[in-house]
Amino acid sequence: MKPSYIRVIIDRMIHRELDYSVPETLAARVGVGSRVRVPFRDKSALATVVATLEQSDVEAVRPMEAIVGDAPVISENLLELAKWMSAYYCCPLETVMRSLLPQVIRQAKIGWKKQLFVQAARKIDNDEFGKLRKRAPRQAELLEAIAKLEAPVPAAQLLRKTSLDNQTLRALVKRGLVQLHEEAVERDPHGDEKFIETINLELNAEQAIALKQIADALEVPEIAHPILLHGVTGSGKTEIYLQAIRAAVEQGRSAIVLVPEISLTPQTVERFKGRFAEAPGAVAVLHSHLSEGERHDEWQKINSGRARIVIGARSAVFAPLKNLGLIIVDEEHENTYKQEEAPRYHARDVAVVRAKIDKCAVVLGSATPSLESYHNAMTGKYKLATLTQRVDTRQMPLIRIVDLRQERRKEKAAAILSEKLRGAIADRLEKREQTILFLNRRGFSTSLLCSNCGEARDCPNCSVALTFHRHVARLSCHLCGHTAAVPKKCPACGKDALIYAGFGTEKVESTVAHLFPKAAVRRMDADSMTRKEAYRETLLSFRAGKIDILVGTQMIAKGLHFPNVTLVGIINADLALHLPDFRAGERTFQLLTQVAGRAGRGETEFRERCDFPPFKHAVLITVRSAHEERAKFSAETLTRRLKEALGPEFIVSDATPAPLEKLQGQFRFHILLRGDAIMRLSRLVRETLDKLPFPEDVVVTVDVDPYQLL
Ligand code: ADP
Ligand code: ZN
Repeated sequence: MKPSYIRVIIDRMIHRELDYSVPETLAARVGVGSRVRVPFRDKSALATVVATLEQSDVEAVRPMEAIVGDAPVISENLLELAKWMSAYYCCPLETVMRSLLPQVIRQAKIGWKKQLFVQAARKIDNDEFGKLRKRAPRQAELLEAIAKLEAPVPAAQLLRKTSLDNQTLRALVKRGLVQLHEEAVERDPHGDEKFIETINLELNAEQAIALKQIADALEVPEIAHPILLHGVTGSGKTEIYLQAIRAAVEQGRSAIVLVPEISLTPQTVERFKGRFAEAPGAVAVLHSHLSEGERHDEWQKINSGRARIVIGARSAVFAPLKNLGLIIVDEEHENTYKQEEAPRYHARDVAVVRAKIDKCAVVLGSATPSLESYHNAMTGKYKLATLTQRVDTRQMPLIRIVDLRQERRKEKAAAILSEKLRGAIADRLEKREQTILFLNRRGFSTSLLCSNCGEARDCPNCSVALTFHRHVARLSCHLCGHTAAVPKKCPACGKDALIYAGFGTEKVESTVAHLFPKAAVRRMDADSMTRKEAYRETLLSFRAGKIDILVGTQMIAKGLHFPNVTLVGIINADLALHLPDFRAGERTFQLLTQVAGRAGRGETEFRERCDFPPFKHAVLITVRSAHEERAKFSAETLTRRLKEALGPEFIVSDATPAPLEKLQGQFRFHILLRGDAIMRLSRLVRETLDKLPFPEDVVVTVDVDPYQLL
């Protein structure tokens, strides 16, 4: 049925939907999910159609201007997902749309790459050919080459091969002997690579059970629970993914595999492309290093149904696949799945919701599941499949955890590497083996620690360490706002041995470089890895043996699989448990088990005591401004309003200066909300914010299920 009106959301922050009439000429091609151009105020704007209507009660409704691109680009299911995200993450639908559709598709400025193809226009006899050869020998030469072609070829390629020029070609076209036509060609980032076909491996008993669970979910996806696949690195999870995808594809359905960006290496891509090598193009890859043109082509390949399997980082959860059968989230515990700008969504959680909407199976895999997922598995919300054994019998590297306190007792100056660790590194260097040194802290947070007894100063209300704020010379809690004076002596043991714990990866790097001047030392953390390619580059040179010692934070856990790494030093790991971030403990825990290849569960209780996720939801509101007073005043006003609006069902903390009080010239204040009914909380927050006029230079952001409390 041809719609008379459309309802759209335009790509601007106006927070409401608008109606337009549809001219007769466009009615056949416009539908829900179409991208359109509409008049808005005195300009025109791009917009997405969210509904088609028979009638509109808007007065003087204006006509839409044009359809952008071809087919509708957002399915009704994805639109439903977007609406869920908007409600859950307390974020305008316009903003969600920005993540849902890549910019290159939204703006439709870049299309397919066009190439000129050449073919013979007609046959010519020997007579005519002889004449041409006499008059224009080069044209004759080119014509001869073209006559031999079985199918049209790109003109540029032909000219390169024959070493003839464009002018010669044009002359032949002019004579009517040769035809040129434009054809769309695909930009395939992996176009020149050959993938060697691999086949399903025979699964071991545990793998077979896990695969069966997924196969069962594929049978009745509408009632199946998400499956948490818990297995150490090397236990054969990826092999299970490959076989599960094979099963889905054989049922004519499609699949998405999410991996953390950093794991999206050529080896990973090769593994998937290799398993489905019989249908080149069936596997599309979406990651942040694609050019706009490549992204356009991969996306269209998925939207048109040619690609049935999508591997990608976070945003691939929005891949426009139809008839989705399976979503896999590998390394589901990785915090890179959380987007740290609006919409602040978590791709794993979005995957679970999408699976529900699309009625498909969902598998979350990890060696060290997040507390949320583990909790869900324990309470029966998720099904658990466990792999306890490594398939390959390679030895895990040796692990040493260094306790700084011991070192301090032995030496006056703060040592960074223990003697033991130092000796072990020297030994590895001699054997030409590699070392990884982990450090679990960020440069700017400083907590107070007793170097004698190891006690950190914790908040009495929150079980996290208090943070030292230099310019007020006090300790404060970033969660509840509690503050305390800096004690002279350690309240626990009475010794005058309090230190500000804090050194960063840089310090470790320089110390190591100093101790081992001949070794190649490289640092890998958020500061040194700001360039996009830097991760991969560093990992590649590490893998190639060009780096002896890799120093870094969480990020380098990936390097652990490299066979030549025989030593992993974890420096000061216990301190990370005192970082002012409630997930810090979880991260340390994950790192340790990821390294050690075993899992324990001692930590859940810690967060339960604090009312933090997964047992309650948290919402973090940040209020910032270049003017400290204005930020503070706005935050306090907002806190008051929230307390009125939310009632006793939710816990509203007082506005407190953020741990990172000043960031890029902006003063920042935090308000933390906690409670169970997240959808209600989200809605009430949005309503409160919409009613409150903030000064122009005050910016308020809302982060639901936050990962960073900084
Ligand atoms: P994970 O994803 O859990 O790290 P992988 O699936 O990558 O584990 O498996 C680790 C290695 O063992 C890979 O080289 C893989 O090809 C191999 N492998 C996995 N399952 C089997 C199996 N059933 N038989 C033989 N080799 C296997
Ligand atoms: Zn506190």
